[in-house]
Amino acid sequence: MIKLPKEFYEQILAHAKKELPNEACGLIAGVIEDGNKIIKKVYLLTNVDHSNEHFSLDPKEHLAAIKDMRANQIAPLGNWHSHPESPSRPSEEDKRLAYDPKASYMILSLEKETPVLNSFHIENNEVTKEELIIE
Ligand SMILES: [Zn+2]
Repeated sequence: MIKLPKEFYEQILAHAKKELPNEACGLIAGVIEDGNKIIKKVYLLTNVDHSNEHFSLDPKEHLAAIKDMRANQIAPLGNWHSHPESPSRPSEEDKRLAYDPKASYMILSLEKETPVLNSFHIENNEVTKEELIIE
């Protein structure tokens, strides 16, 4: 299970809408308690691809975020990105680029009027949806 406080969900959503028509992206960090991931901070990064079909995290911002996590004693838990025109599930490229089986990969779809956010584990090209609680 992964828990995303509503204020962070709002931050992700606002950033994703601002970046339209391109994909938006960022990182999630927090703590693991009894096997559950609790997100304590989200990072809104620049998609250096400036594309509506894929994303790459800005390497400098990525490094700054990792330093900030260390300073705040929280752990990297994964990343998030938006799908402006497709459903909330990993694309073939997303699967190919998912190198960390411990990470949570969150995908926010803005395809429909109501945004959809899901969180996934990806291991050896196999996708498993994980329970996501936004509150
Ligand atoms: Zn994607």
